[in-house]
Amino acid sequence: MTEFDVVVVGAGPAGSAAALEVARAGLSVALVERGPFPGAKNVFGGVVYGRVLDELIPRWWERMPVQRWVTRRSTMVLTPTQALTVDLRAQDWGQAPYNGATAHRSELDSWLAEQAVAAGATLITSTVVTGRSATGVRTDRPDGDIAAKVVIACDGVNSFLAKEAGLFKAREHNTLGVKETLALPRAVIDERFGLTGDEGADFEIIGCTGDIPGGGFLYTNKESVGIGVVLELDGLTAAKVRPEELIAELKAHPAIAPLVRGGELVEYSAHLIPEGGYRTMPELVTDGMLIAGDAAAMCLAAGIWLEGVNFALGAGMYAGRAAAAAIAKGDTSKAGLAAYRTMLENSFVLGDHRRLRDMPGLVLSERVQRRYPGLVCDLAQGMFEVDNAQPKPGLRKLLREARRTHGVRVRDLLRDGITAMRSL
Ligand code: FAD
Repeated sequence: MTEFDVVVVGAGPAGSAAALEVARAGLSVALVERGPFPGAKNVFGGVVYGRVLDELIPRWWERMPVQRWVTRRSTMVLTPTQALTVDLRAQDWGQAPYNGATAHRSELDSWLAEQAVAAGATLITSTVVTGRSATGVRTDRPDGDIAAKVVIACDGVNSFLAKEAGLFKAREHNTLGVKETLALPRAVIDERFGLTGDEGADFEIIGCTGDIPGGGFLYTNKESVGIGVVLELDGLTAAKVRPEELIAELKAHPAIAPLVRGGELVEYSAHLIPEGGYRTMPELVTDGMLIAGDAAAMCLAAGIWLEGVNFALGAGMYAGRAAAAAIAKGDTSKAGLAAYRTMLENSFVLGDHRRLRDMPGLVLSERVQRRYPGLVCDLAQGMFEVDNAQPKPGLRKLLREARRTHGVRVRDLLRDGITAMRSL
């Protein structure tokens, strides 16, 4: 049996951040990954935002494998025949310390794990952790048990370790994320998205998933674009539609088609996302074990926000610190590891989740999904439409008509507006 101070299960962003912090504290740590290399099995849209990287890996932007720096963020509201876009360009996002970057998971996860290894962690790949043992974890390798004082479970949305420890809550808010990567020449992407040099664009889309609660996304890489949908599982089952049909519809939408036309499908991937946020998180600590990242439902995607990597990196970082501090004190019981929860509550990880706790329910609600896209698009169309010989209708009249057409009650609008204002 091999022995370490800490064993981290899963070399996604949460796991590599945890292993990095434990190694930096001068302790021995094994980072165990079931894939042949970190990121081999992982999927994201994908944009990674810099805020926690600034603390975890100073001047990360000089070394991280980046596709493009995001200088354009757009939120699109679609109906089958309309599109309303809030389109923000920020040139300073294209300079250090940067705001966000598109990246490929295979490159990003491998690079993050390399940082942990450079700090002293031992990376063990092609190894599945099959459960906890009295002294650490069991793996699928013959004689593959690993002893450790603390186990950090970073094994993703279907965390076997969290389930086994009885910490896993029913994930009724899981969604399925499905993505196509379409190859396009760099110059074509630059021209269609209005980008120069290493600039990139990040589009979040609502109103593109038919009767299924969810959302969509479109991100630019150097020589490809990632386009996809995020779909609530129950809605997907009930609708009897295949995710690729929804992506095909999105690609054919008049506002999207000119951006992706001619793109050659080079990859199709799918993965579950824990969407429920703060209200569906399991307990994060038990005797000798901490849970971080998607394993603890710290994703917060709510159909359109996809910031799971950020939260996973932050949670992993704090889990690593809490494990190292507990070992230094000689108390790795649930009480000895409790500082982890406090660190998370005092940081953006649980701070943001707490503040946004009502957003998953709101964004995935029938009103936001089916009624509001039509309402806001009709309202905007009414304002910009020039109907000769008629005086322009006032905003109040337009809103009244749009509300009637889409069956939206004033009471719901006000309540949802207040929820959104409080959360944002
Ligand atoms: P994961 O990345 O899932 O890593 C878990 C790791 O554990 C994996 O490497 C897995 O192989 C390994 N593992 C699992 N079980 C075992 C085991 N028993 N033994 C050993 N190893 C094991 N987030 C963003 O920030 N930006 C985006 O643009 C974005 N877009 C997304 C688009 C889609 C379609 C999807 C599905 C997700 C997206 N997310 C995005 C969310 C993001 O991918 C996750 O929140 C993030 O990857 C969570 O990191 P993690 O380390 O907790 O888990």
